[in-house]
Amino acid sequence: MEKREQIYEGKAKKVFASDDADIVIVSYKDDATALDGLKKGIITGKGAINNRMTNNLMRRLEAAGIPTHYVKELNDRETAVKKVTILPLEVIIRNISAGHFASRYGVEEGIVFDEPTIEFSYKNDDLHDPLLNDHHILALKLCTKEELELVKSYAFRINELLKGYMKDIGIDLVDFKLEFGKTPDGQIVLADEISPDTCRLWDSMTHDHLDKDRFRRDLGGAEEAYIEVITRLMEEK
Ligand code: UDP
Repeated sequence: MEKREQIYEGKAKKVFASDDADIVIVSYKDDATALDGLKKGIITGKGAINNRMTNNLMRRLEAAGIPTHYVKELNDRETAVKKVTILPLEVIIRNISAGHFASRYGVEEGIVFDEPTIEFSYKNDDLHDPLLNDHHILALKLCTKEELELVKSYAFRINELLKGYMKDIGIDLVDFKLEFGKTPDGQIVLADEISPDTCRLWDSMTHDHLDKDRFRRDLGGAEEAYIEVITRLMEEK
């Protein structure tokens, strides 16, 4: 696989073309942003950890029947993935109250829900990613009704699988964000990343935050927290 020109640079990743028109190469950066892009910093080693963690989880999800964009890990920071059109939706699943759920609805963090929740936001930096319900998504034609149902059913299945993988390594999966893409032949697949940047991960015993909240909230020890998660995950499998 040969890397060609850069086609996109996001907050945490760059995307390059490859010698195969159906495949792009994702390169994970150490850059961290929070608070709607206002807070910027570096979490040293994060790119390599997020790359390896995402790939480990995507391979396991794929084996469990969830279609993903994953193709092949190329090196520490870079992975070949299927070229897809990303649906402009952030899909957020929550098992325990935290972050915006707690602040928006005025409840404490740490309430364990009887059933997971799902919410969507519109991937649009200029509009600050506003919340969307199913009807808004269809009115804006962000995807079809069938695609939306599929995204929802994948998201809840992914939650059950990820909750199990995390429980096995002593971590409670509090909440996380997913993105889905569409292949040229119309298949909906899981895309983007699954990492401590995009998940809230609390140690099951101590409830220590092992995720980007260490950076968002200036708790210190972000590097160590990311290393802790990848170490537990790699020892497991
Ligand atoms: N999240 C994300 N990207 C975003 C917004 C949220 O990865 O642009 C993740 C976040 O890490 C957390 C979950 O989605 O695991 C829920 O985030 P929340 O809505 O509480 O917002 P946050 O407090 O993270 O801004």
